[in-house]
Amino acid sequence: MKVDVRRVRSLNDRAADLTSKETSVDYKNGGTPVVVGGPVMYWMSRDQRVSDNWALLYAQQEALVRKVPLLVVFTLFHIPERASERHYDFMLTGLAEVAAELADLNIPFFILKGKSEDVLPDFVKKYGVGEVVVDFSPLRYARSRRTAVASQLPCLLTEVDAHNIIPCWLASDKEEFAAYTFRPKVRRLLAEFLTPFPKVKKHPYSFLGTVPKIKWDEIIKSLSLDSSVSKTAFAPGAKAGKKQLTSFIKNRLDGYDNDRNDPNKDGVSGLSPYLHFGQLSAERVALEVSAAYEFNKEARDAFLEELIVRRELADNYCFYNKDYDKVAGAHAWAQKTILEHKTDPREYLYNKNDLETASTHDDLWNAMQNQMVTEGKMHGWCRMYWAKKILEWTPDVQTGIDIALYLNDKYELDGLDPNGITGVMWSICGVHDRAWNERPIFGKIRYMNYVGAKRKFDIKAYTQKYSSGNKLFE
Ligand code: FAD
Repeated sequence: MKVDVRRVRSLNDRAADLTSKETSVDYKNGGTPVVVGGPVMYWMSRDQRVSDNWALLYAQQEALVRKVPLLVVFTLFHIPERASERHYDFMLTGLAEVAAELADLNIPFFILKGKSEDVLPDFVKKYGVGEVVVDFSPLRYARSRRTAVASQLPCLLTEVDAHNIIPCWLASDKEEFAAYTFRPKVRRLLAEFLTPFPKVKKHPYSFLGTVPKIKWDEIIKSLSLDSSVSKTAFAPGAKAGKKQLTSFIKNRLDGYDNDRNDPNKDGVSGLSPYLHFGQLSAERVALEVSAAYEFNKEARDAFLEELIVRRELADNYCFYNKDYDKVAGAHAWAQKTILEHKTDPREYLYNKNDLETASTHDDLWNAMQNQMVTEGKMHGWCRMYWAKKILEWTPDVQTGIDIALYLNDKYELDGLDPNGITGVMWSICGVHDRAWNERPIFGKIRYMNYVGAKRKFDIKAYTQKYSSGNKLFE
């Protein structure tokens, strides 16, 4: 089975003649020598898994056509917001599993320390790589890295959307207004893209160069991680992600439509950390949930709406809106109402430290913050309330967005994700939402309050569970 070419696009102008790949002759392209005979390299970034990965499958397909070795390279660059044990432990343990699986498939795995644009072009030149394949991310920093690498490579750089079921650029060619405008587009294309995955084959062409042994412990030590943001109960890696999926389908999928909005119930999938790091493919999840006919259809549909429409809508928003984390990224109606309520007096005002240490007057909010800090995953319903209160208690909307994203990305195991950006922008700036009744501070942005939360679930049980204080800050 061939990878659907609609999942693939070229990021530089060295596309050249794709039919001449079997040759290993160098040729000129705009004065730059283009090596077509060297290995194909998959620059693994957002999709950190071997199975169910269209980018790896495409890279292998290319390597087989060219009759060359296949390499996988991951670049590790210290991101301050990510400098916690929580995120690095989860990611690196998952990558060690990737390296072991690839070794069994005769595909070497390299970790290069440094910014991709600083280390990848030299690696490509050193090994005479003939084509680089990278997975897709809509985020600013990831896009600028891809652009910087593309401009320096002597060979083709292709990008494969291995994260979305429908390639982001194909699902829609513009920023969607809301889920209702995006949903019909998804429905139209879903059957074409929600397809079974072939397996990665044992690669027949061996890499003859030296592959340095990866010393995982030394890598972890060298990162000087912040251990106060500690590991969570989520077991890292692709195998653990699959186990989580199996347990969700067996034990919780059937009640998902009723239980998912109750933070006291274990009613959600808990898959977001695995999906965020690409340890689990959303398409695999969708295939298995769609085929779980023994469970109630409303529950399956409700789950697939979140997993497909809402998740892919978040990528759409970040891909097409350059101001995705700014007030300027909001709908015109929202920007207008935000401006009109800019100077509304705030009854409570908290700074970043007050919020980070869960020191507000609201026991429910504090409990939510504690859940995130200690468990690394706040319940989905709580995330909306939590972000809306940040809007209510900070001096201006942009400060609210910045603090919400800072906390979200520092503590959520699934943070630094388009879903987080879009979730914060939905809550604070009405992105993908509509205008509601006007009220102080919020203007026409949807409001949520304590009384509403009380109607939804047993607040006392929740606050008791997470009121023990935030040990980090004692
Ligand atoms: P389930 O309910 O089991 O959903 C399954 C999957 O569907 C999720 O893993 C996710 O991939 C997707 N999904 C569910 N809800 C949404 C949604 N509202 N938007 C987009 N995709 C969704 N999600 C993150 O992955 N990372 C974040 O950093 C993040 N931060 C958020 C911040 C705020 C303020 C808000 C309102 C939402 C945020 N979300 C984030 C979206 C959502 O809350 C989480 O994806 C969900 O709670 C993850 O838990 P789960 O996997 O058990 O969810």
